[in-house]
Amino acid sequence: MLQHTPREMAERSALQVNPAKTCQPIGALYAALGIERCLPHSHGSQGCCSYHRSHLTRHYREPVMASTSSFTEGASVFGGAPNLRQALKTIFDVYHPDVVAVHTTCLSETIGDDIPSIVKKAEEEGIIPPGKIVVHANTPSYVGSHVTGFANMVRGMVDYFAAPEEAKTNRINVIPGYVEPPDMREIRRMVADAGLTAIVFPDTSGVLDAPQVGAFRMYPKGGTSVGELRRTGESRLTLALGAFASEPAAQLLETQCGVPFKTLDCPLGVRATDRFVETLLEAGGTATEVLEEDRGRLLDLMCDMQQHLYGRRVALWGDPDPVIALAEFVTDLGMIPKVVITGTPGKRFERRVKGILKKTAPEAVVRANADLFFLHQVIKNDPVDLLIGNTYGKYIARAEDLPLVRFGWPILDRVGHTLFPTVGYRGGLHLLVRIVNTLLERKDRDDPDERLELVL
Ligand code: SF4
Repeated sequence: MLQHTPREMAERSALQVNPAKTCQPIGALYAALGIERCLPHSHGSQGCCSYHRSHLTRHYREPVMASTSSFTEGASVFGGAPNLRQALKTIFDVYHPDVVAVHTTCLSETIGDDIPSIVKKAEEEGIIPPGKIVVHANTPSYVGSHVTGFANMVRGMVDYFAAPEEAKTNRINVIPGYVEPPDMREIRRMVADAGLTAIVFPDTSGVLDAPQVGAFRMYPKGGTSVGELRRTGESRLTLALGAFASEPAAQLLETQCGVPFKTLDCPLGVRATDRFVETLLEAGGTATEVLEEDRGRLLDLMCDMQQHLYGRRVALWGDPDPVIALAEFVTDLGMIPKVVITGTPGKRFERRVKGILKKTAPEAVVRANADLFFLHQVIKNDPVDLLIGNTYGKYIARAEDLPLVRFGWPILDRVGHTLFPTVGYRGGLHLLVRIVNTLLERKDRDDPDERLELVL
């Protein structure tokens, strides 16, 4: 289907073809689901909310709950305040969440609806019951991407919940970034294994990978509690995992509550996980045998499979924080990134990836705010052996007859990504197994009879 993608590349500034991103509210909705008993609310028309919910449902294979202000022509002209007030009344009367997290859409942003004023009025009118909370984030989709929306909503959590406290406790905050529920669980496990007490927020584990219990639960067990979010201002340190998804919230926490922060790469692959663990140790944690053994197992597999990985040319795309770490990981595996892109804008991505690849792959094409059409053209001019990215790459994989390891968001045609982590040493093992097995499958498929080996 994409076999007609031309090799000749033209400079484009106002056109994206097959974008490598989606719109801000999806990220905001996902982040909000990481608050315990929270109902995300889309302040816009029904179509936006339906798209965001269905896209998340297809990726997580779980029902994704969200309400909408259901804009029609009237709201589009006169503003959506009455719709939001009516929606809040219905939500608290019928669905009983503890928190409603409102995000805006292109339409409500263009109208200029002032959410804090609308919510304040709803409070004065008694629409919001005592003890219930409404938070919000502005998420206009004509800037940024779903990652920006995620970052904005996490920042909104700090804005609404974190209270300044002079006397700091021994706890730390960890903002895991836009990663999967099993990743958030794995980050929590690693922090606990190092002997530290942490507030991890947001935390979608348990919410979007809820077990089948035979009954519908509107609010599955999981998510960071309101109490924990309120106490984030008492922590002595915040670790922001991922500059794009987590740093804005950490910055606000420092300004608002005086909690210093450190920004780290998403802890994916050996070196990024090492830096995460080292930071945990600097923060008073202990290196345990479990962490050492997990690391050793990952290194062992890397050594064992080196002959199948070394020199393999690879194309990477996806969200900036995981892709930065992935570029470093594949380099450590001996592979050569030829093209590394993200759909999210930000020169910081290009600087960081080019810095990582400076010695090993200085010729790599690295670009933020890029699309899959661009990536495909680069591959046509400089072929690769493997694609690593989300489901949308399957069309390129078919057109170029290339193997594809599904990684990142969204994955709409395979399972496993919501069950097994890719972060930490254990996550690195899962990812490495998939990379190696994909290459070996291809080798078995392509080898002539006389070279088909039983043992690889
Ligand atoms: S891009 Fe804007 S209008 Fe389109 S679905 Fe996203 S929020 Fe709605």
